[in-house]
Amino acid sequence: MTVSRKSKGPNYAAANERLEPMRKERILPWLVDLSRVNAASLADGRPGDLPNLIYELRQWLDLEPDEPLNAEVRGLEKNPARLQAMIDRVTELLGAVADRKRFRADYSGGSVILDAGKLGSEGGRALSYRDANLEDAVLRVALDDLYEDVEAAMRIQRCVEPDCLRVFLAERKNQKYCSHRCANKMASRVYRKTHGKERARRERARYERRVRERTASNVKVARRPRTRGDS
Ligand SMILES: [Zn+2]
Repeated sequence: MTVSRKSKGPNYAAANERLEPMRKERILPWLVDLSRVNAASLADGRPGDLPNLIYELRQWLDLEPDEPLNAEVRGLEKNPARLQAMIDRVTELLGAVADRKRFRADYSGGSVILDAGKLGSEGGRALSYRDANLEDAVLRVALDDLYEDVEAAMRIQRCVEPDCLRVFLAERKNQKYCSHRCANKMASRVYRKTHGKERARRERARYERRVRERTASNVKVARRPRTRGDS
């Protein structure tokens, strides 16, 4: 057990200090959230937002203190574009999972270490990789996480609301929409489609009635040419 520090957070994490690894149940929800991050607007947003994300990225990657990648991760704070490129790849990966499609990542190598003393212990990764670069590390760790928690990975779905289509982590089996908002939007879309003809008929009747009220009751109302909205 480690001695508890007075304060924890991005500002207090020493340069190469090993952070507490991200809890297992937090990983896939965090990855899905990450895939929606816009690094540039995060950099321009509230002052703590980008350092917080980078802190979480370090927790998730669970790098050894002596790994050169630590410095690269911290450097992302000044290079949101590089961070965004990595996020975009994660987004692509999660999209492939949601759509049950293939995802391919070619990587430039590194080394892999099995720390047998950590096998079966909570937290930390018994099998650790020393990836050659940060881009490789991000994808490789994400791939590992998806593969290690298949049950959670299968909950990654794409919202079927045509204007949304974003990737989300389903809370229930057969959940088709990312939110109530999208479910409602789709329901009213379907309603409009099935009730459209009936409504067009009602509107036509109302229109004819109004015209008749203003003119002699026996005037025949000319039919409007059909427009797309009528069908
Ligand atoms: Zn949606």
